[in-house]
Amino acid sequence: MASRDSRIARTLLEWFDAAARDLPWRPPGRAGRRDPYHTLVSEFMLQQTQAARVAERFPRFLARFPSLAHLARADEQDVLAEWSGLGYYARARNLHAAARAVADLPHARLPHDPDQLTALPGVGRYTAGAIASLAFNTPTPAVDGNVSRVILRLEAKDLPLAGPGTLAFAHGRATQLLATEPARASAGALNEALIELGATICTPRSPRCEACPLARECRARKLKAQARIPRAKPPARQKHLRADSVLIRDRAGRLLIERRPRTGLWAAMWQAPTLESPAGPDEPGPTARQLPRLLHLPGLNLGPRPVETFTHATTHRLVQFRIWTAAAPRDFAPGPGPAGDQPREWKKQDQIAMLAISNPQRRILLADRDSLFDR
Ligand code: SF4
Repeated sequence: MASRDSRIARTLLEWFDAAARDLPWRPPGRAGRRDPYHTLVSEFMLQQTQAARVAERFPRFLARFPSLAHLARADEQDVLAEWSGLGYYARARNLHAAARAVADLPHARLPHDPDQLTALPGVGRYTAGAIASLAFNTPTPAVDGNVSRVILRLEAKDLPLAGPGTLAFAHGRATQLLATEPARASAGALNEALIELGATICTPRSPRCEACPLARECRARKLKAQARIPRAKPPARQKHLRADSVLIRDRAGRLLIERRPRTGLWAAMWQAPTLESPAGPDEPGPTARQLPRLLHLPGLNLGPRPVETFTHATTHRLVQFRIWTAAAPRDFAPGPGPAGDQPREWKKQDQIAMLAISNPQRRILLADRDSLFDR
């Protein structure tokens, strides 16, 4: 009789064959060969973004950078601009740097070995396992949050998803599944089946056990413990920030923009001149009189109040934006931004739309605000 692990592996592979979603980076049918470059790009995009969103953007990115050599030769600002809207821009920078590092290798090809892949910028243990197994069928696990959740439930292991010991446990079990006879020639498909099951059926809330191919083998389901595995962890504290962004327009209708510092949140992306400060009940924020001095914008007169405020949430921060407006005076000569490495330029809105900008700055810089300046 087949072992439990062999039954699980076979069931997962058969289910994935029949139920895998049609996604642009997947070749049709399990026998189809994965393009290593497509796998690299899709895995970077998928690191923090839902598959449906990546599916919209992936073909466009490939049309712009059709091969690893094209990406390696590209200018970083063009890569960031093409990534615009996907968020977590460090991924775009790392993908670009990884492409350059691979282009410098003797054969300019992605390594098959996960240890060599982790030497590339932005490639952690999961991404290395995914690329090695999906593109080259290397029998190595690819354990992300989806896979950890499926394995913890399958084994009724009462651990938090990101807790110490969880990754080692999930890695160990995935390695055992990869060593079974059904998985021997299908390491990539088995890893992807686990990822797919976690993304579509064994979801964080309300797993659809009635539709799950592993229902008969699942120990959490037998104990009716699906809802409490993985164990909940206390929510992370978000830092509260205020961002005062000043829209400055010159007589030609151009807006003044500056580049953010090369490290930190939204690194090296373009924005309206912006001052960030702590937000909170005891932090009233800078006034219209203080802002021009603090932002190194001498001679500028702002309207008395912000014209709009909105809140933007990132994983670790809650940023309250305040938008101010000003018409540039005749002899206005802005220097670089206060951080020193922040060049400033005048651009029309259609030119700004082509640059790498964050979602909140897109809202600030690209909205139609003519009426505010005509007053
Ligand atoms: S039976 Fe339910 S809890 Fe178990 S693996 Fe399937 S979806 Fe997840």
